Amino acid sequence: MSSSFSKLNVGESAFEVVPTKILVIDDTPAIHADIRKILTPAQVDDELDALTAELFDDPSSELRGTDVSYEVDSAFQGNTGLSMVAKAIEAGEPYSVAFIDVRMPPGWDGIETIERIREIDDKMQIVLCTAYSDYSWEELRNRFGRNDWLLIIKKPFDVAEVQQLACALAEKWNLAQQASFNMQRLEHIVTNRTAQLNAANVNLREANLYLQKSNDQLTTEMAARRDADLKLMHMAYHDALTGLPNRTRLLTHLDACLKRAEHDDDYKFAVVFLDLDNFKTVNDDLGHHAGDEVLKHVARELASTVERRTKADHSLLDLVSRIGGDEFVVLLDDITDASDLMQFATRAREALSKPIEIENTELVPLASIGLTIREGVHSGPQDLLRDADLALYQAKGNGKGGIAVFDQEMRAALVERKRVEADLRHAVQRGELLVYYQPLVDIDSQEIIGLEALVRWEHPLRGLLRPEVFLDVAEEAGLIEEVGEWVINEVCRYASDLIQKCPIANDIRFSINVARKQLSQGNLVECIRTALDEWGLSPNSLAIEIAESVTIGNIERIQEQCQTLTEMGIPIYLDDFGTGCSSLSMVQSLPFAAVKIDESVIGDIVDAPADSLPLVQAMALLAENRRFDLIAEGIETESQFHVLRELGCNVGQGFYFARPMQADQVSELLLRKSLKTKSRPK
Ligand code: C2E
Ligand code: MG
Ligand code: MG
Repeated sequence: MSSSFSKLNVGESAFEVVPTKILVIDDTPAIHADIRKILTPAQVDDELDALTAELFDDPSSELRGTDVSYEVDSAFQGNTGLSMVAKAIEAGEPYSVAFIDVRMPPGWDGIETIERIREIDDKMQIVLCTAYSDYSWEELRNRFGRNDWLLIIKKPFDVAEVQQLACALAEKWNLAQQASFNMQRLEHIVTNRTAQLNAANVNLREANLYLQKSNDQLTTEMAARRDADLKLMHMAYHDALTGLPNRTRLLTHLDACLKRAEHDDDYKFAVVFLDLDNFKTVNDDLGHHAGDEVLKHVARELASTVERRTKADHSLLDLVSRIGGDEFVVLLDDITDASDLMQFATRAREALSKPIEIENTELVPLASIGLTIREGVHSGPQDLLRDADLALYQAKGNGKGGIAVFDQEMRAALVERKRVEADLRHAVQRGELLVYYQPLVDIDSQEIIGLEALVRWEHPLRGLLRPEVFLDVAEEAGLIEEVGEWVINEVCRYASDLIQKCPIANDIRFSINVARKQLSQGNLVECIRTALDEWGLSPNSLAIEIAESVTIGNIERIQEQCQTLTEMGIPIYLDDFGTGCSSLSMVQSLPFAAVKIDESVIGDIVDAPADSLPLVQAMALLAENRRFDLIAEGIETESQFHVLRELGCNVGQGFYFARPMQADQVSELLLRKSLKTKSRPK
């Protein structure tokens, strides 16, 4: 290690080396000169002498000098030395060694100077310069105690002694400084490391907390995912609205039953296909919410009907499912015979048709039901569903609320129906539709007062088809509006043409039958207006016939439509009265100008009058009071004609007067004037 020395700077990585600073405090200039000579041999003597001489006159002055190894400063009095020590500490460049004279009149002696200096710098190494007569070693030890920082040198100095002392003490001071520096640096490092450790600990704690949180979150997420999976599973096999098993679940179940039946000849099961009648009407007229409520009601009733069966026999694996829209399928496990099946279907139909109130409207859900029992020909679930569906189709054809069990003829009937549908799609464009007209006759005068328009289809292969063959198909296939519009336009065209050719037709009303959809979808009025405009026809030439069944449903809407037509001058006739479930109150709720009593009632009026006679009598009374016309449909015989005239029917229609006829025959009839015309029904 070098003998010229250091500067502390804790925090920096290096221990900076600076020259060793030595302070000489002595009142004798020669001593200063001697020590400098010993420690700084290169210093110029003359210069020193001059300075010494100058300084000697002022004992409180100081002298500074430098050497490569030592930087030696001089003070001639104790107090001057003390202030130099203080300044050096303040400047961060403290002295390492001080040579202090014992006697320094007139100021402090060496002992006091040492004491004062030690008060502000306890690191400094001190060499006390004494004469023989000064303090003994014991005295000094008593004064300063046992220590390692004070050495005594006797005057006159030995050069080597001074050099060794300076060198050793400077080294010791320097080492102490370095040790202190290292210690402080160590402390600094330790403090830093501790701070870092603390920070790391905090981070670790936070990380632990985060991990804990993540763990909790993960557990919650996993539980949520499990729930979601279960929900998805449930959703995959169940219908969201009713909670019943869906088509997928049904197919799996059917498959399992089919597999069992393959191995067990005695095992039989059946499929019940159920479809609501008029469900579309509920949706269209009362909205989807009402539709949903009906479906939920059906699901409940169906499930409880099945439950009654399975409660009686727990081994049964029946399944109630909703496979779409208003279609429900029940799988009846272990069925014994067809009568079993019919019994179940009847019970189910009764359960469903309990009246329910939705949106202040009382609804009576009716279902058509198709049934099939599994046979050897059924190789997959789809075969069973297809046959049950065919039976359902047949059931629907039998009328609302019908039940049918599958048989082979059904398949042929379906094929036929599908063919009608396919052909009908082009019938309007190909001009295959035509209108027949049947006169409405005043019963008193037997004059023609109206003509009912009856649509026909001239099928290219099958000949002339009556509406019963194709109107239901048109309704189901969504073609009824197109057909209806065509009829309205055709009748207006024909009426306008007829009036041109034969002016007496001006007093005749052409009555047009409309389907439920035309009335409830709201374009009927618009369609009639357009046709009247196009053919320059007066509304007085038209009447609209609404079948009794058409008026079931959204009565407000129907009222609104009928009101508009009436205001336009187009009377409304209630058609087919006596066939449906409507009541006399309904007759009063709409602005009917006439009620047409159905041919089924009229047909019985002579041969089986028990039911029909009171009905016609009641209607005749009501007609008189409410001032509407009573039209009897389907009069075939003279006796019927007489009875009806007696009862007070004012208008008649039927083969007795004339059959429905082609347009050109009508003009002939009118021109021949074989039937006189008279004022029309109000
Ligand atoms: P409707 O409106 O009750 O028409 C009267 C039906 O009774 C006609 O059957 C007619 O041919 C038949 N008829 C008339 N007089 C007699 C009779 O003395 N004895 C018997 N047994 N029947 C008689 P058609 O033409 O087959 O029409 C059947 C039904 O088809 C009509 O019943 C009507 O509801 C509907 N229809 C006809 N044309 C149209 C149409 O253009 N649009 C709509 N939506 N329905 C129509
Ligand atoms: Mg009619
Ligand atoms: Mg009728």
